[in-house]
Amino acid sequence: MKKHNFSAGPCILPQEVFQKASAAILNFNDTGLSILEISHRSKEFVAVMEEARALALELLGLTGKGYHALFLQGGASMEFLRVPYNLMKVDGKAAYLDTGTWASGAIKEAKAFGETVVVASSKADNYTYIPKAFEIPTDANYFHCTSNNTIYGTQMNQFPETNIPIVCDMSSDIFSRSLDFSKFDLIYAGAQKNMGPAGTTLVVIKEGLLNQTGRSIPNILNYQQHIDKESMYNTPPVFAVYTSLLTLQWLKNLGGITAIEKNNEAKAALLYNEVDRNPLFKGTAAKEDRSKMNATFLLENEAHKTLFDNLWKEAGVSGLNGHRSVGGYRASMYNALPLESVEVLVKAMRELERIA
Ligand code: PMP
Repeated sequence: MKKHNFSAGPCILPQEVFQKASAAILNFNDTGLSILEISHRSKEFVAVMEEARALALELLGLTGKGYHALFLQGGASMEFLRVPYNLMKVDGKAAYLDTGTWASGAIKEAKAFGETVVVASSKADNYTYIPKAFEIPTDANYFHCTSNNTIYGTQMNQFPETNIPIVCDMSSDIFSRSLDFSKFDLIYAGAQKNMGPAGTTLVVIKEGLLNQTGRSIPNILNYQQHIDKESMYNTPPVFAVYTSLLTLQWLKNLGGITAIEKNNEAKAALLYNEVDRNPLFKGTAAKEDRSKMNATFLLENEAHKTLFDNLWKEAGVSGLNGHRSVGGYRASMYNALPLESVEVLVKAMRELERIA
């Protein structure tokens, strides 16, 4: 039986993407070669890379607006390092908003490069909300934030108005909601939530942002190198890029971000309504900051745990256990998760209420 996959990432991708990616492992675009054995310099794969880079910008509404899209390796964690390396000036400073484990991971890497100002943090409240009143130092080289906090189930709805370049880790909500993406100077996102399998990271960079630090940057860490080499500085993760392209094509055919956003809102509303209505559950994140991608919730009474776990597992739900730093449950409702899966989960929650 196919599971209802609520995993936080790697996570569910569209079934049609699994089918097309499987077919390409046997015979990629009628080349008589597998996508796993074809040269990354072949014209067939170069076309994949070009289309993936162009489509990522198109879906974000950034075509023709002076942005480059790259598909890199090292996960979003590598960008925690590449961002300060490429953007923080020698003797410069950077500003960071601390909204969770991943944000603080990015802060840790920046500190190795220079003065790193944490403009606000919700750590003292176990990251249950997004701090809103903060000031960004006017002499910071950039401001870094995390649009969706995968572990704590919070999401930024507002981004600061500032003249300082904004860098955003969108790993867990990219392509899920409409934003004015042109407000950001650098966006990065590990593929393994809304875009594809683990193994590649989308990095979108505005022209004019780079080459201002006075640092000597090793090639593999230098964004400019990757731009100059059209995301082929070294062997790219061929299969991850191809599968990401298939997912982006799926999203485009569906109507792009505005279409998927409606589905995501419907799924989140269904689940949060049940969390709020059902007396046996409670949400962990501040209501106004609740994530539409990752819903975190607890049982009011831990004694119901075995009963509830059996109910959702019997219903075919998978990947619902919360992260160890929050406990309870986390329902990740990425783009490819159908509404029907949320209905199945809500049914299990109602069943618990009925029999507990
Ligand atoms: N940022 C966010 C928001 C994430 O959710 C994750 C992973 N779940 C990361 C960064 C780290 O990504 P990676 O494992 O690809 O390095």
